[in-house]
Amino acid sequence: MAEQPRGLLGYDDTPYISGSKYRVHDSTRPQPVVVTPGTESSQPQPGRVPSDAIVLFSGTSLESWHHKDGSSARWKVENGCMEVAPRTGNIITNTEFGDCQLHLEWAAPSAVAGQSQGRGNSGVFLMGRYEVQVLDCYNNPTYADGTTGAIYGQYPPLVNACRKPGEWQTYDIVWEAPRWDGDKKLVSPAYLTLFHNGVLLHNHRALLGPTTHRAVLPYAPHPSVGPLELQDHGNPMRFRNIWYRPLVPQDV
Ligand code: MG
Repeated sequence: MAEQPRGLLGYDDTPYISGSKYRVHDSTRPQPVVVTPGTESSQPQPGRVPSDAIVLFSGTSLESWHHKDGSSARWKVENGCMEVAPRTGNIITNTEFGDCQLHLEWAAPSAVAGQSQGRGNSGVFLMGRYEVQVLDCYNNPTYADGTTGAIYGQYPPLVNACRKPGEWQTYDIVWEAPRWDGDKKLVSPAYLTLFHNGVLLHNHRALLGPTTHRAVLPYAPHPSVGPLELQDHGNPMRFRNIWYRPLVPQDV
């Protein structure tokens, strides 16, 4: 076997990294998994997803979703997107997951109707419990902790990065599920990072508990995985290009 130039693929005589079983530039440290990145979406076209993404909605079918009573999802699917069918109820994914990178795109109706929480309202509930607000806040004031991208009832977003109603908007979320010691004591709260249209709205924000309307809820133990839930708030909101990548703890 040909001899490798010294240091080409690492070293075995360097100091150990504090808290790690590996040395600096350790030659035995596992290589990162190769992922083929996706492409950005444009207004007419959703982008391609990363090669290791789990697709929850690709534009043609709601087979990965159902209503909370177990019935098939009755939202509309047309022109590559799903649309809330008002008063059919929220829908949830068949798949349950915890820590993840989540991408989704949404659009409010271009014909503006209603005001404040009544205009272009929906919501993205992580694990079916923690709502990131979806709302048309383009020239539409409402209470700050209910603005577009708010952690509903807890934290307003850092900024309002809304596009005009009718235009596609992206949410890119990094989610860390809360942790419990056994099934009793909260060890770590949920953390959320959110980019809206590429603009940072929350930077590793610790949630105070599940979200709700006009109340503050304490954490209550729940499983380490849960469904993604989209809200029917009575407005014909559209969604497309929904996928996630599970976050697997890194070997340190
Ligand atoms: Mg909502």
